[in-house]
Amino acid sequence: METVNPATGEVVDSYEEASASDIDDALARAEDTFAEWREVPLREREELIAAAGDVLRDNEREYAELMTEEMGKPISQAHSEIQKCQWLCDHYAQHASEYLEPETHPSPPGTTVETVYDPMGPVLAVMPWNFPFWQAMRFAVPYLVAGNVGLLKHASNVPGCALAIEEVFDEAGLPEGAFQTLLAGSDKIDDVLADDRVRAATLTGSGPAGRAVASTAGENLKKTVLELGGSDPFVVLDDADIDAAAETGAWARNQNGGQSCIAAKRFIVHENVYDEFLDRFVEECEALTVGDPTEEDTDLGPQAQAELMDDLQEQVEASVDAGANVVTGGEPLDRDGPFYPPTVLTDVPEGCPADSEELFGPVASVYSVGDEEAAIAKANDTEFGLGASIWTEDRERGQHVARRIDAGCTYVNQLTKSDPRVPFGGVKNSGYGRELSEPGIKEFVNRKTVWIE
Ligand code: NDP
Repeated sequence: METVNPATGEVVDSYEEASASDIDDALARAEDTFAEWREVPLREREELIAAAGDVLRDNEREYAELMTEEMGKPISQAHSEIQKCQWLCDHYAQHASEYLEPETHPSPPGTTVETVYDPMGPVLAVMPWNFPFWQAMRFAVPYLVAGNVGLLKHASNVPGCALAIEEVFDEAGLPEGAFQTLLAGSDKIDDVLADDRVRAATLTGSGPAGRAVASTAGENLKKTVLELGGSDPFVVLDDADIDAAAETGAWARNQNGGQSCIAAKRFIVHENVYDEFLDRFVEECEALTVGDPTEEDTDLGPQAQAELMDDLQEQVEASVDAGANVVTGGEPLDRDGPFYPPTVLTDVPEGCPADSEELFGPVASVYSVGDEEAAIAKANDTEFGLGASIWTEDRERGQHVARRIDAGCTYVNQLTKSDPRVPFGGVKNSGYGRELSEPGIKEFVNRKTVWIE
């Protein structure tokens, strides 16, 4: 496995891919460690997860630089990602016991009936490159503290990050084998999933990858959590604070180079404020700096891989051929490397790629709608259902619109974001199950009934 710095085109490092026997050894280690780890009292597991947060704090710069090198994330955003992972560790270190408190049920006199939350065993995680630390820690921290052990199959372009995450848990003092990285290609995943020692799987990534993993897991009767793509609506109603909506909207679309499942992608704007919003939004997009991701003030670095930018450009060209209008951007920058500018499309025809597919880069589609009903209908006119953002000065109206949007997470006057305290996940083709907060830690536990006469 070779990693290439997308900003410079230079080979960063090469890694030996795991053989079938390496994978078998890892599964054996996971099974053995699970027997030990599940017996460690929850309070002690919380302390070890808190220690993982300290390791992240101590190595923040090194890990941030690694992300920037492997997938081109601007360095300031890479630091924020590591800090968010620290927060995640702190959150579960403080709340896991409360989340996993046994629940007592009404029962006949003289009996006690409760639900307890036992770990399930080794959980396989297939993770993407866009937030290399956050996506992997988001599964690892709650599942480990609940007493499971983790096996990470990370995206092939971020093996350095994958190994660094293993190091975080090792240095924190978790037993060897509690969290292991498998440097394996996706062709090895079916066999791992079919193995009896693996009890469940979680995947964050594209729809095709999600279907492949869920189908093999289904054949083997294993539970899955899927966090897939999105085409999130960003609804601007006629009473919105336009400056705030334009400023936040530009960031919601373009942060991380637009490579985020919960990025705002379809901007659905009430016709009364359409012109004003569009002008302000384009201004905000054009003010973002695209360039060297190691510079502190860079907003957008390169796209993570040249092929992914080529796919994005094809989607833009097909949309323009279908009738979409490019207001700004619209083609790669004239420089070496996969640098793509913030792009705004209007008059986007129904069914073209910019309307119906996920655009995993800094390209926004802006629509004008006649009223609130039309805005809700357009927001829901998608195969996806991950996040949504609604802008209005009337909080009650915002709540009402939020309730009518088919998405896993809705935000009023705020961009869609993940937060350790709040459940996160999608509906429709954006996946199922929830990560983070209490529902997240309870996805991979055995909710065991204990009846005592
Ligand atoms: P993929 O979904 O292909 O990759 C994500 C992870 O899944 C990687 O670890 C990948 O491994 C693995 N994977 C891929 N196919 C399979 C399979 N058949 N069985 C098991 N594991 C598999 O994303 P890409 O990087 O190719 O990006 C393509 C598109 O996916 C993006 O343009 C975007 O639309 C979407 N995406 C969504 C993300 C999200 O956060 N929801 C994140 C990343 C991408 P390997 O790297 O070895 O192929």
